[in-house]
Amino acid sequence: MNKKAIQKISYGVYIISSKSNGKLNGQIANTVFQITSEPPTVAISINKENLTHDYIVKSKVFSVSVLSKSAPMSLIGQFGFKSGRDVDKFQNINYKISNTGAPIILDNTVSYLDCEVISAQDVGTHTVFIGKIVDCDVLSNEEPMSYAYYHEVKGGKSPKTAPTYIQQEDNTKNQGKSEKFLCKVCGYVYDPEKGDPDNGIKPGTAFDELPDTWVCPICGAPKSEFEKTS
Ligand code: FE
Repeated sequence: MNKKAIQKISYGVYIISSKSNGKLNGQIANTVFQITSEPPTVAISINKENLTHDYIVKSKVFSVSVLSKSAPMSLIGQFGFKSGRDVDKFQNINYKISNTGAPIILDNTVSYLDCEVISAQDVGTHTVFIGKIVDCDVLSNEEPMSYAYYHEVKGGKSPKTAPTYIQQEDNTKNQGKSEKFLCKVCGYVYDPEKGDPDNGIKPGTAFDELPDTWVCPICGAPKSEFEKTS
C-alpha cells in the first residue's frame, strides 16, 4: 500500500475552536468538509488527545475559521503545535465570540462557520463531529490557504495528532548552502532555498547564516533545537 496516494487528496487549513466553562481553545485542522446544503452541515475530524476535542464534547459547539494564504506560520504554530493545556492560545489574538460562544479568529481569516454538533462518530484515534451551521460569514476576499500551499510554499509539517500525519522519511543529503535543518520540537524543516520570508529571512540564506535571535517560525524553538536532516 502506497500511503502517498492518500496525500494526493486536497484540503484547506483551518482553525477549529470551541469553549468549555468560560475557557476558549482552538487548533489547526485540515479536515473540514460540507455534507449537506439544507440544512447546511459540515464534518470535522479531531484527535481525541487534543484539548479542543474535550471542549467540543462538553459544549457541543465549534467554529471553523478559514485561513487565508497570507496567514503567518506563527499563527499556525500558535494553534497547531502548542497545547491549550500549556498556553492560552487566544492571548494576543484578535477574535470575536460567535452566537454559539465559540471564538472566531478575525485576522488572516477569509470566512467562518459557527456550528452546533448534531452527531459524533468515534473513529478510533479521532472523532468525526458533524455540525449544523447556525451562522457564517465572509470576512475577506483573500484566497484561502490550501494544505498543499502550506506544505510546499510555507514549509509546514503535520503534527503527529493530525489525521493526515504520515511518518516522514527525509532522504535529502544536501551539502553546504542547501543543507536543511529539522526542528526537533515540531518537525518544521528549515530549507535555505525557501528561507523564512515571514520573518525577514531571504531565500538562499544558509542555516548557519541565520541570526542567533531567529526562532522556529512554527513553535518558537531556538536554533539550538535544530539538527541537520540526514
Ligand atoms: Fe519548531
